[in-house]
Amino acid sequence: MKRITLGNFELTAVSDGIYHLDGGNFFGVIPKTLWEKKVKADEKNLVPSGLNSVVVRTGEKTILIETGIGNKLPEKMRKIYGQPAKLLENLAAAGFAPEDIDIVINSHLHFDHCGWNTVLRGSTVVPTFPKATYYAQEGEVAHGHRQLERDAISYISANYDPLIESGQMTLLKGDAEIVPGISVKVFPGHTRHMQAIILRGGGQTACYISDLIPTSAHLDLTWVMAFDLFPLDTIESRKRYYEKAIPEKWLTMFTHDPHIPWAYVEKDEKGKMVARSA
Ligand SMILES: [Zn+2]
Repeated sequence: MKRITLGNFELTAVSDGIYHLDGGNFFGVIPKTLWEKKVKADEKNLVPSGLNSVVVRTGEKTILIETGIGNKLPEKMRKIYGQPAKLLENLAAAGFAPEDIDIVINSHLHFDHCGWNTVLRGSTVVPTFPKATYYAQEGEVAHGHRQLERDAISYISANYDPLIESGQMTLLKGDAEIVPGISVKVFPGHTRHMQAIILRGGGQTACYISDLIPTSAHLDLTWVMAFDLFPLDTIESRKRYYEKAIPEKWLTMFTHDPHIPWAYVEKDEKGKMVARSA
Protein backbone atom coordinates (compact mmCIF):
# COMPACT_ATOMS: atom_id res chain seq x y z
CA MET A 1 0.00 0.00 0.00
CA LYS A 2 1.29 3.43 -0.95
CA ARG A 3 -0.03 6.77 0.21
CA ILE A 4 0.58 10.31 -1.02
CA THR A 5 -1.11 13.66 -0.53
CA LEU A 6 -2.22 16.10 -3.19
CA GLY A 7 -3.34 19.35 -1.56
CA ASN A 8 -6.10 18.34 0.83
CA PHE A 9 -6.61 14.99 -0.92
CA GLU A 10 -5.13 11.77 0.43
CA LEU A 11 -4.46 9.13 -2.24
CA THR A 12 -4.01 5.47 -1.33
CA ALA A 13 -3.00 2.86 -3.93
CA VAL A 14 -4.66 -0.51 -3.31
CA SER A 15 -4.47 -3.59 -5.50
CA ASP A 16 -6.77 -6.43 -6.49
CA GLY A 17 -3.62 -8.51 -6.98
CA ILE A 18 -1.56 -9.57 -9.97
CA TYR A 19 -2.92 -11.36 -13.02
CA HIS A 20 -1.17 -12.49 -16.19
CA LEU A 21 -1.49 -11.43 -19.81
CA ASP A 22 0.16 -12.64 -22.98
CA GLY A 23 3.19 -10.43 -23.63
CA GLY A 24 2.25 -10.07 -27.30
CA ASN A 25 -1.21 -8.82 -26.35
CA PHE A 26 0.34 -6.45 -23.85
CA PHE A 27 2.82 -4.80 -26.25
CA GLY A 28 0.96 -4.97 -29.57
CA VAL A 29 3.16 -4.43 -32.63
CA ILE A 30 6.36 -4.05 -30.58
CA PRO A 31 8.71 -7.02 -31.20
CA LYS A 32 9.45 -9.25 -28.22
CA THR A 33 13.19 -8.64 -28.65
CA LEU A 34 12.48 -5.04 -27.58
CA TRP A 35 9.83 -5.44 -24.87
CA GLU A 36 11.53 -8.33 -23.10
CA LYS A 37 14.33 -5.94 -22.16
CA LYS A 38 11.79 -4.21 -19.92
CA VAL A 39 9.48 -7.04 -18.86
CA LYS A 40 10.32 -10.73 -18.43
CA ALA A 41 7.84 -13.24 -19.83
CA ASP A 42 7.43 -16.75 -18.40
CA GLU A 43 7.60 -19.99 -20.44
CA LYS A 44 4.02 -19.43 -21.65
CA ASN A 45 4.91 -15.86 -22.72
CA LEU A 46 2.83 -14.44 -19.88
CA VAL A 47 3.75 -11.18 -18.18
CA PRO A 48 2.56 -9.97 -14.76
CA SER A 49 -0.04 -7.22 -14.79
CA GLY A 50 -1.17 -5.22 -11.77
CA LEU A 51 -4.76 -4.34 -10.90
CA ASN A 52 -4.30 -0.97 -9.26
CA SER A 53 -7.13 0.98 -7.70
CA VAL A 54 -6.79 4.31 -5.93
CA VAL A 55 -8.82 5.56 -2.96
CA VAL A 56 -9.12 9.33 -2.73
CA ARG A 57 -10.22 10.96 0.53
CA THR A 58 -11.19 14.55 -0.13
CA GLY A 59 -12.14 15.37 3.48
CA GLU A 60 -15.80 15.13 2.50
CA LYS A 61 -16.01 12.10 0.26
CA THR A 62 -14.20 8.80 -0.10
CA ILE A 63 -13.80 7.87 -3.74
CA LEU A 64 -12.65 4.56 -5.20
CA ILE A 65 -11.16 4.67 -8.69
CA GLU A 66 -11.47 1.32 -10.48
CA THR A 67 -12.43 -2.04 -8.97
CA GLY A 68 -10.14 -4.72 -10.47
CA ILE A 69 -11.25 -8.17 -11.60
CA GLY A 70 -13.49 -9.01 -8.64
CA ASN A 71 -14.54 -12.54 -7.79
CA LYS A 72 -17.23 -13.42 -10.34
CA LEU A 73 -15.16 -14.50 -13.36
CA PRO A 74 -16.53 -17.49 -15.27
CA GLU A 75 -14.40 -20.64 -14.84
CA LYS A 76 -12.96 -20.43 -18.37
CA MET A 77 -11.72 -16.85 -17.92
CA ARG A 78 -10.39 -17.66 -14.45
CA LYS A 79 -8.19 -20.30 -16.08
CA ILE A 80 -6.85 -17.88 -18.69
CA TYR A 81 -6.31 -14.76 -16.57
CA GLY A 82 -6.43 -15.87 -12.94
CA GLN A 83 -8.61 -14.22 -10.34
CA PRO A 84 -6.53 -12.90 -7.45
CA ALA A 85 -9.54 -11.18 -5.78
CA LYS A 86 -7.48 -9.22 -3.25
CA LEU A 87 -9.13 -5.80 -3.38
CA LEU A 88 -11.43 -6.05 -0.37
CA GLU A 89 -8.71 -7.37 1.95
CA ASN A 90 -6.28 -4.73 0.70
CA LEU A 91 -8.91 -2.01 1.21
CA ALA A 92 -9.45 -3.31 4.76
CA ALA A 93 -5.70 -3.31 5.42
CA ALA A 94 -5.64 0.33 4.31
CA GLY A 95 -8.51 1.12 6.69
CA PHE A 96 -11.46 1.17 4.30
CA ALA A 97 -14.68 -0.84 4.65
CA PRO A 98 -17.05 -1.21 1.67
CA GLU A 99 -19.55 1.06 3.49
CA ASP A 100 -16.97 3.85 3.62
CA ILE A 101 -16.93 4.32 -0.15
CA ASP A 102 -19.18 7.19 -1.31
CA ILE A 103 -18.27 7.18 -5.00
CA VAL A 104 -16.87 4.58 -7.41
CA ILE A 105 -15.49 5.68 -10.79
CA ASN A 106 -14.77 3.15 -13.56
CA SER A 107 -12.42 4.33 -16.33
CA HIS A 108 -14.13 1.85 -18.66
CA LEU A 109 -16.05 -1.39 -18.27
CA HIS A 110 -13.61 -4.14 -19.27
CA PHE A 111 -13.84 -7.01 -16.78
CA ASP A 112 -10.46 -6.20 -15.20
CA HIS A 113 -11.53 -2.65 -14.33
CA CYS A 114 -15.00 -3.00 -12.79
CA GLY A 115 -15.11 -6.54 -11.39
CA TRP A 116 -15.65 -5.58 -7.74
CA ASN A 117 -18.48 -3.19 -8.64
CA THR A 118 -20.74 -6.06 -7.65
CA VAL A 119 -20.57 -9.38 -5.81
CA LEU A 120 -22.72 -12.50 -5.83
CA ARG A 121 -24.86 -13.03 -2.77
CA GLY A 122 -26.44 -16.44 -3.27
CA SER A 123 -27.63 -16.20 -6.84
CA THR A 124 -28.21 -12.43 -6.87
CA VAL A 125 -25.73 -9.78 -7.83
CA VAL A 126 -25.50 -6.96 -5.28
CA PRO A 127 -23.37 -3.79 -5.11
CA THR A 128 -20.07 -4.36 -3.27
CA PHE A 129 -20.13 -0.75 -2.09
CA PRO A 130 -23.71 -0.36 -0.84
CA LYS A 131 -23.65 3.41 -0.21
CA ALA A 132 -21.69 4.39 -3.32
CA THR A 133 -22.81 6.23 -6.41
CA TYR A 134 -21.02 4.64 -9.37
CA TYR A 135 -19.91 6.56 -12.47
CA ALA A 136 -19.12 5.25 -15.96
CA GLN A 137 -19.43 6.52 -19.53
CA GLU A 138 -22.75 5.88 -21.28
CA GLY A 139 -20.93 5.14 -24.57
CA GLU A 140 -18.91 2.43 -22.85
CA VAL A 141 -22.08 0.72 -21.60
CA ALA A 142 -23.64 0.93 -25.06
CA HIS A 143 -20.53 -0.64 -26.60
CA GLY A 144 -20.52 -3.45 -24.02
CA HIS A 145 -24.17 -4.18 -24.76
CA ARG A 146 -23.39 -4.64 -28.46
CA GLN A 147 -21.37 -7.79 -27.60
CA LEU A 148 -19.20 -7.55 -30.72
CA GLU A 149 -17.15 -10.53 -31.90
CA ARG A 150 -13.90 -8.70 -31.23
CA ASP A 151 -14.35 -7.84 -27.55
CA ALA A 152 -17.57 -9.34 -26.15
CA ILE A 153 -15.45 -11.37 -23.70
CA SER A 154 -14.24 -8.14 -22.07
CA TYR A 155 -17.74 -7.03 -21.04
CA ILE A 156 -19.47 -8.86 -18.18
CA SER A 157 -22.86 -7.20 -17.76
CA ALA A 158 -23.22 -8.28 -14.11
CA ASN A 159 -20.53 -5.69 -13.35
CA TYR A 160 -22.78 -2.80 -14.37
CA ASP A 161 -26.31 -3.66 -15.55
CA PRO A 162 -27.70 -4.32 -12.04
CA LEU A 163 -26.32 -0.93 -10.90
CA ILE A 164 -27.82 0.86 -13.89
CA GLU A 165 -31.20 -0.82 -13.32
CA SER A 166 -31.24 0.15 -9.63
CA GLY A 167 -30.21 3.73 -10.42
CA GLN A 168 -26.99 3.39 -8.43
CA MET A 169 -24.79 3.97 -11.50
CA THR A 170 -24.77 7.38 -13.16
CA LEU A 171 -23.92 7.32 -16.86
CA LEU A 172 -21.85 10.21 -18.14
CA LYS A 173 -21.89 11.68 -21.65
CA GLY A 174 -18.26 12.78 -22.01
CA ASP A 175 -16.09 14.94 -19.77
CA ALA A 176 -17.55 15.83 -16.38
CA GLU A 177 -16.77 17.05 -12.89
CA ILE A 178 -17.69 14.43 -10.26
CA VAL A 179 -16.96 16.49 -7.12
CA PRO A 180 -14.90 19.70 -6.77
CA GLY A 181 -11.32 18.86 -7.79
CA ILE A 182 -12.17 15.47 -9.31
CA SER A 183 -13.18 15.19 -12.94
CA VAL A 184 -13.17 12.71 -15.80
CA LYS A 185 -11.87 13.25 -19.33
CA VAL A 186 -12.41 10.93 -22.28
CA PHE A 187 -9.25 9.74 -24.06
CA PRO A 188 -10.21 7.54 -27.03
CA GLY A 189 -7.98 4.71 -28.24
CA HIS A 190 -8.14 1.69 -25.95
CA THR A 191 -11.90 1.99 -26.34
CA ARG A 192 -13.85 4.89 -27.86
CA HIS A 193 -15.07 6.13 -24.46
CA MET A 194 -12.32 5.29 -21.98
CA GLN A 195 -12.05 8.08 -19.41
CA ALA A 196 -9.12 9.22 -17.28
CA ILE A 197 -9.78 10.45 -13.75
CA ILE A 198 -8.11 13.79 -12.99
CA LEU A 199 -7.50 15.02 -9.43
CA ARG A 200 -6.55 18.63 -8.71
CA GLY A 201 -5.51 19.84 -5.27
CA GLY A 202 -3.06 22.28 -3.74
CA GLY A 203 -1.89 23.42 -7.17
CA GLN A 204 -0.96 19.84 -8.16
CA THR A 205 -2.57 17.39 -10.55
CA ALA A 206 -2.73 13.60 -10.56
CA CYS A 207 -4.30 11.50 -13.29
CA TYR A 208 -5.46 7.89 -13.29
CA ILE A 209 -4.74 7.42 -16.98
CA SER A 210 -6.00 3.81 -17.08
CA ASP A 211 -5.38 1.76 -20.22
CA LEU A 212 -4.23 4.76 -22.26
CA ILE A 213 -0.81 4.15 -20.61
CA PRO A 214 -1.28 0.89 -18.70
CA THR A 215 2.22 0.59 -17.16
CA SER A 216 5.48 2.52 -16.94
CA ALA A 217 6.76 0.21 -19.73
CA HIS A 218 4.15 1.73 -22.10
CA LEU A 219 5.27 5.36 -22.01
CA ASP A 220 6.58 5.43 -25.58
CA LEU A 221 3.92 6.73 -27.99
CA THR A 222 3.93 3.59 -30.16
CA TRP A 223 4.02 0.96 -27.38
CA VAL A 224 0.28 0.40 -27.66
CA MET A 225 -1.50 -2.75 -26.47
CA ALA A 226 -2.93 -5.16 -29.05
CA PHE A 227 -6.24 -4.93 -27.16
CA ASP A 228 -6.70 -1.30 -28.22
CA LEU A 229 -9.59 -0.91 -30.65
CA PHE A 230 -8.24 2.35 -32.12
CA PRO A 231 -4.42 2.32 -31.86
CA LEU A 232 -3.92 5.49 -33.92
CA ASP A 233 -6.26 7.32 -31.53
CA THR A 234 -4.26 5.93 -28.59
CA ILE A 235 -1.15 7.63 -29.98
CA GLU A 236 -3.00 10.94 -30.50
CA SER A 237 -4.56 10.73 -27.02
CA ARG A 238 -1.13 10.08 -25.48
CA LYS A 239 0.25 13.16 -27.24
CA ARG A 240 -2.65 15.20 -25.90
CA TYR A 241 -2.00 13.82 -22.40
CA TYR A 242 1.77 14.41 -22.42
CA GLU A 243 1.30 17.99 -23.69
CA LYS A 244 -0.20 18.82 -20.29
CA ALA A 245 1.12 16.12 -17.99
CA ILE A 246 4.83 16.60 -18.68
CA PRO A 247 5.19 20.41 -18.42
CA GLU A 248 2.68 20.62 -15.56
CA LYS A 249 4.35 17.69 -13.71
CA TRP A 250 1.21 15.60 -13.24
CA LEU A 251 1.43 12.44 -11.15
CA THR A 252 0.47 9.63 -13.54
CA MET A 253 -1.32 6.65 -11.96
CA PHE A 254 -0.83 3.33 -13.79
CA THR A 255 -3.66 0.81 -13.82
CA HIS A 256 -1.67 -2.35 -14.72
CA ASP A 257 1.88 -1.68 -13.50
CA PRO A 258 2.74 -4.55 -11.13
CA HIS A 259 5.43 -2.54 -9.34
CA ILE A 260 4.64 1.19 -9.32
CA PRO A 261 1.11 2.56 -8.96
CA TRP A 262 2.19 6.10 -9.82
CA ALA A 263 5.11 8.15 -11.10
CA TYR A 264 5.98 11.43 -12.80
CA VAL A 265 6.47 11.13 -16.56
CA GLU A 266 9.38 13.16 -17.88
CA LYS A 267 11.33 13.53 -21.12
CA ASP A 268 15.02 12.76 -20.80
CA GLU A 269 17.75 14.61 -22.73
CA LYS A 270 17.24 12.29 -25.76
CA GLY A 271 13.52 13.09 -25.81
CA LYS A 272 12.60 9.65 -24.45
CA MET A 273 9.75 9.32 -21.98
CA VAL A 274 10.84 8.10 -18.55
CA ALA A 275 9.03 7.51 -15.26
CA ARG A 276 10.46 9.25 -12.21
CA SER A 277 9.29 7.76 -8.92
CA ALA A 278 7.08 9.87 -6.70
ZN1 LIG B 1 -9.31 -2.27 -20.84
